[in-house]
Amino acid sequence: MKSYNITLLKGDGIGPEIINEAVKVLNVTAEKYGFGVNYEEALLGGCAIDATGVPLPQETVDKCKSSDSVLLGAVGGPKWDTQPGSNRPEAGLLGIRGALGLFANLRPAVIFEPLKNASPLREDIIGEAMDIMIVRELTGGIYFGKRGNFEEDGIPAAYDTEKYNVNEIQRIGRVAFDMAMKRNKKLTSVDKANVLDSSRLWRKTMIELSSEYPEVELNHLYVDNCAMQLVRNPKQFDVIVTSNIFGDILSDEASMISGSIGMLASASLNSTKLGMYEPIHGSAPDIAGQGIANPLATILSVAMMLRYSLDESKAADAIENAVAEVLKTTRTPDIYTEGMKKVSTSEMGDAVCALIK
Ligand code: NAD
Repeated sequence: MKSYNITLLKGDGIGPEIINEAVKVLNVTAEKYGFGVNYEEALLGGCAIDATGVPLPQETVDKCKSSDSVLLGAVGGPKWDTQPGSNRPEAGLLGIRGALGLFANLRPAVIFEPLKNASPLREDIIGEAMDIMIVRELTGGIYFGKRGNFEEDGIPAAYDTEKYNVNEIQRIGRVAFDMAMKRNKKLTSVDKANVLDSSRLWRKTMIELSSEYPEVELNHLYVDNCAMQLVRNPKQFDVIVTSNIFGDILSDEASMISGSIGMLASASLNSTKLGMYEPIHGSAPDIAGQGIANPLATILSVAMMLRYSLDESKAADAIENAVAEVLKTTRTPDIYTEGMKKVSTSEMGDAVCALIK
């Protein structure tokens, strides 16, 4: 029987609670679809600072590197807010992304039919359902470019640099074109080519790459226009590919359209099949330990892991279908509406498991 090694980074706040439910669902799915899963836990974030003094111990990097995939809860919380920047829980997150070479961030912005009324957009704007995949470059651009502080005519000044080379653009471009091929074959590349040289290189490279994918319809939008189009007519999008900083902003905008932060998953991939999968929300310290966190984003992250790292797409479908089904009747408090059954974190995990079995 095939078996996969998964490193669990439960992290802080609600992290352990939501990971426990995701593991429950993965175990049931593995049993049904005939594969095994071995788990190994490692420390990241605030819990790692408490135990070892640093947010990303080397042991965690080693465990993640030697596994088939990594499942992360969330890190951070007020307890560690006074740590210096380089030793904050979030520094651990950036560190593990760098150590694993995770250059592609996939952020689906999906509205499940039963949650349509949670979206801040009118129903006629979102239509039947929304399903956009944002592919964000994660290890280049202005967040990693040359930066500095200096004095300009005696006045304090600072600068950051947006830089991409063709290889970096092709690498993320291929992830996005491949993704479009698996979906509706429509790719929107987002840049600021009317102003930035780095964006002009981005656009030229995407156009050249498109000759390798004749079936994919490629179009281009300036980032400011894309931000508007996402709320004016989100139905026009299938896959969006963009740089680190533009993707950071647009993926948050797109996730807000879906209306519930506890529902959205994400994946970060490197050039092998190794990926790190996590919900987009944080550690929610305000509700940690109360058993009311919504575990569905983490459960949907497991579905992404099965699809993109482990090639178990039937198992991934089963989890996604079970989540769509459970939402018709069962809700955690953050997405509760009248007439539904209100459940705890673990009851939600059980309800998803019951639909998969
Ligand atoms: P947050 O996402 O943790 O919480 C925002 C709001 O959404 C809170 O009211 C919270 O209760 C609610 N919420 C979030 N996830 C939920 C869930 N699964 N179910 C129900 N409600 C949920 O964002 P924040 O409050 O800005 O940040 C809290 C901590 O998390 C900070 O330390 C921040 O740095 C960290 N953070 C970590 C990550 C990560 O680990 N990837 C991402 C974002 C923020």
